Amino acid sequence: MAEAVIPNAVRERMDAWMRQGLKHFIDGKFVDSANGETFSVPNPATGQELTRCALGGKEEIDLAATAAARAFKTWGRMAPAERGKLLRRWAQLMIEHKDELNYLECMDVGRPIREGIAGYVERMAHNITFFADLAEKYYDEAFVLPGYTFYTNRQPVGVAGLITPWNMPQMLSTWKIGPALAAGNTVILKPAELTPVGCTRLAELAREAGIPDGVFNVVHGFGPDSAGAYLTMHPDVKLISFTGETTTGKVIMAAGAPTLKRVSFELGGKGNNIIFADADLEKALDVTMRAAFYNQGEVCLAGSRIFVEQPLYDQFLEALLARVKALRPGDPLDMNTTLGPVIAQEHFDRVMGFIDRAKAQGVQCLTGGGRAEGLPAPFDGGYFIAPTVFAAPDPSVEIVQEEVFGPVVSVTPFTDDEWVLDIINAGRYGLSSVVQGKDISRLHRMAQRLQSGNVWINSWFVRDLRVPFGGMKESGIGREGGMHSLDFYTELQTIGIPTA
Ligand code: ADP
Repeated sequence: MAEAVIPNAVRERMDAWMRQGLKHFIDGKFVDSANGETFSVPNPATGQELTRCALGGKEEIDLAATAAARAFKTWGRMAPAERGKLLRRWAQLMIEHKDELNYLECMDVGRPIREGIAGYVERMAHNITFFADLAEKYYDEAFVLPGYTFYTNRQPVGVAGLITPWNMPQMLSTWKIGPALAAGNTVILKPAELTPVGCTRLAELAREAGIPDGVFNVVHGFGPDSAGAYLTMHPDVKLISFTGETTTGKVIMAAGAPTLKRVSFELGGKGNNIIFADADLEKALDVTMRAAFYNQGEVCLAGSRIFVEQPLYDQFLEALLARVKALRPGDPLDMNTTLGPVIAQEHFDRVMGFIDRAKAQGVQCLTGGGRAEGLPAPFDGGYFIAPTVFAAPDPSVEIVQEEVFGPVVSVTPFTDDEWVLDIINAGRYGLSSVVQGKDISRLHRMAQRLQSGNVWINSWFVRDLRVPFGGMKESGIGREGGMHSLDFYTELQTIGIPTA
């Protein structure tokens, strides 16, 4: 079954490619680290080494920054249509190499291929073409007074540092690369150390597309005292767009302060899923399952705490448990697999820590609560956690308050909308919420009072690239999407001239 989805020839070619090890992409060349250091990249589905990757540090960031600053002098002054031609060629190559990119993402992250083939690479390519188009179409403003005229001019900012996480490496990287490059900046991408594979292949395709040397660079490495930290401190790097943990965001903000870098942060969250008693049960379950278990719950938007209005609670919980028990962990390349492994041993231990502490606190675990057992070799060595549901009538417990980032949900009954609002709005996160039901006024009333950057009614994770996206409170700073992205990736200048 797995072979039918990703052709064998593609798998063999990409396996051989991974065996060569991954290099940095600096100034149009694939290079090892100056000191020759590398690190091991795990395959989350088996626990075995997937490949090795060059480990970058200060020297590689310096080289990339020098190249990107030089390339900016021409890239930043090219007409948007000229940049657009190259960017569209790159996006086209992504589509042409769709099987490869899906396969690499599957190996990197462990996400089930059935989720990957559902338009993932197409959306990545769209992240590039959408912003290439937008950069060609936006216009400046003029303010014409008697005897004096002002007009605005958008300048690209310069070298952009993009730091991305491991949960959707190619999607979240292209989401930043698209607007950064289309607006005329040059880029240094620092992919997450757990998932450097797909973005390295994207760099090869960038070169094939003719993106000029130095315009797009990839430097691999860790965060603290490594490529990530040096990127955030480099004086030639003018902005940082970061997606990752809230604690990391705070460190990056401090590191960028001495050079006053502009930042855009998409940080942690504790996604809410509020289900009113009049909700259509089957539809609410469909939304809930996707919101909770897509990408094995490793999504900052995951609707991992579920609040169900009391009259529906028992019926909802029973139906939810039936659906959760039907999830199938296993080989991510198998189309029948509906739940992948979590990313690495360390993260496995972290998620298990949340589960164990919840149990120790007396929170009732209704299903799951441990390693997914019974998988055949080599997947018995993977980081599979059984999908887990807790009944949590008391929402003050850790499992309801903290971001778990795994296949774990809590379900809490409620009778009073104000009570739910108070619990949610008292939290430190404010990224995403789902509200489900039929009473239109009540749905909007709830949505408009939630301190969540994104609220989806009777749906989850529907994205349109024009729409602002981002978090409130400790879930982020700034909004990306459409013109909001271009606002971040450009400096808005005002020019005035007497006309009398
Ligand atoms: P996650 O748990 O999703 O990996 P992190 O915030 O730890 O979240 O990592 C997201 C990205 O941030 C990764 O690319 C990581 O290497 C990078 N990173 C982590 N710490 C730092 C840091 N101090 N400075 C710059 N980048 C960092």
